[in-house]
Amino acid sequence: MPMDNGQYKKRQQRLKEKVDARIEAAQQKRGIVIVFTGNGKGKTTAAFGTVTRAIGHGQRAGVIQFIKGTWESGERNLLAQQGVEFHVMATGFTWETQNRETDIAACQAVWRHALTMLSDPSLQLVVLDELTYMVSYKYLDLIDVLTALKQRPIHQSVIITGRGCHRELLELADTITEMRPVKHAFDAGIKAQKGVDW
Ligand code: ATP
Ligand code: MG
Repeated sequence: MPMDNGQYKKRQQRLKEKVDARIEAAQQKRGIVIVFTGNGKGKTTAAFGTVTRAIGHGQRAGVIQFIKGTWESGERNLLAQQGVEFHVMATGFTWETQNRETDIAACQAVWRHALTMLSDPSLQLVVLDELTYMVSYKYLDLIDVLTALKQRPIHQSVIITGRGCHRELLELADTITEMRPVKHAFDAGIKAQKGVDW
């Protein structure tokens, strides 16, 4: 039997009370650690979406990219113009080329910029794009990463992206979203494309 208007109103009222109580209970104000992980598409775009949200409010944000894409990134072109500081790992490190020695040196160099950002209270948001791989390949020491995250300014939020995020990073995170591939165009033979994939 369909719900009549009175029942509907009552149900909505109960729902509103529950939501209001939860909003009331959430009183802490501090920056958070967000992890976008999983095998589905959308991790890096979600991180950049959050950067546009922050800078749209006049906040400051910085981005470290631990894996250099093969193509120039559309987001970097736009956000750098808006004063967002970018540092991209300087070897030609991509998914294909891996030379452990030079990769580690390049990773450490860009990590120093990350450390500067993670101790700068004027940055409300720091993105560590594809950081998860640096930890799994042991290019970065897990303890160093955890320490830098824990010591960051209280109001600074950090976004970490990448597949296979280390359990201890997940434990430290406040918000974790796992992108799950339901379908991906690439599997149907469609090439990655400018404006959609980078
Ligand atoms: P995006 O940058 O589009 O938000 P992502 O950060 O979730 O994607 P990565 O794992 O970093 O994905 O992969 C980088 C590139 O691979 C992007 O160009 C992305 O579009 C593409 N990609 C992401 N997921 C898949 C998938 N499941 N199959 C094939 N290609 C993918
Ligand atoms: Mg990505």
